[in-house]
Amino acid sequence: MMKKILILGSTGSIGVNTLEIVRAFPDKFEIIGLTANSNIHLLKKQMEEFHPKTIVIADKKKSEELKKTIGNSCEVLSGNEGLLEIAKRNNYDILVSALVGFVGLAPTIEAIKLKKRIALANKETLVTAGELVIDLCKKHKTELIPVDSEHSAIFQCLNGENPSEISKIILTASGGPFLNKSKEEFENVTVEDALNHPNWKMGSKITIDSASMMNKGLEVIEAHWLFGLPKDKIEVIIHPQSIIHSMVEFRDGSVKAQLSTPDMKLPIIYALSFPERFNFNAVATDLKKINQLTFFEPDFDKFTCLKMAYDVIETGGTSSCILNAANEVAVEKFLSGKIKFNRIPDLIEDALNAVSIIHSPDLETIFDCDFKTRDYLKHKFN
Ligand code: MG
Repeated sequence: MMKKILILGSTGSIGVNTLEIVRAFPDKFEIIGLTANSNIHLLKKQMEEFHPKTIVIADKKKSEELKKTIGNSCEVLSGNEGLLEIAKRNNYDILVSALVGFVGLAPTIEAIKLKKRIALANKETLVTAGELVIDLCKKHKTELIPVDSEHSAIFQCLNGENPSEISKIILTASGGPFLNKSKEEFENVTVEDALNHPNWKMGSKITIDSASMMNKGLEVIEAHWLFGLPKDKIEVIIHPQSIIHSMVEFRDGSVKAQLSTPDMKLPIIYALSFPERFNFNAVATDLKKINQLTFFEPDFDKFTCLKMAYDVIETGGTSSCILNAANEVAVEKFLSGKIKFNRIPDLIEDALNAVSIIHSPDLETIFDCDFKTRDYLKHKFN
């Protein structure tokens, strides 16, 4: 049966890769809706190829601009209201949640309530509202399938296993572009240095998060909620080749790993086809060419963002929401040249100390916390 797909964030790296999968399986998938932040040029091309019923452009000016060029061929919505509206419609089977940042949370919740399969690439959904989102998925019996490569690897390793027999999960990390830089050298790294990731081609926010290892920190929090494990059962190891995407160790000492050439199309196709696997040969993995796989322990003293992420699991409540919002602000300030790279963890720590933490938050409290954190940091720059 044809599956109808709504992609939130279709012009980003996950969105573009998802459309490659859809293009490869025209008899299995159909695009119902696409959304973009401001890249109307690419969105228009995607629209002409995949014929969605509705598109959303978050930037209102750009949506007006696009409307003029496409006439009545497709419904055009705009803003965060548009994202909510498209997610609330009952005309799709799978939501690919691939927006960048906190803005992805609200529409993903709408899709969960409609019991749609969620192919989750937006980390912030679980980082900021993990408890609430997991409870909602249980209540509505919604399938939440991770697209993040590490979580997809763990999800695949757990297929057919009993979760109570896990002794720990091992999240692999490439270590990013600054793996071999000293903490002192962090002071002078440039935006270009930080955007130069050795293995993965991704958007700028996640690439900076990889350089600071906050990306891995957010993934630890995500894994904590997704697999229901305490922080001491989640280990991070550096694996510079990014061939093993993550592992699970079971109570009998056996370790399962999932391996492939690093390419996001593989976790995406799994999230769309699960529990089946489709014929797909676009990504080859030749271990003979890779030659060696290496592993070592992360330096928590150098990568303080990773340590802070473990800490907020312990603190609980809205602390992970504060961490996330402060990180989003800090990354933006770094990208626009307003702060140095080594100031990113300082700003996050500052916000964690200043904004009050509320336990068992409802959605409104989470939105409020996100707003307060951004507001607090904004005043620091005025
Ligand atoms: Mg990842």
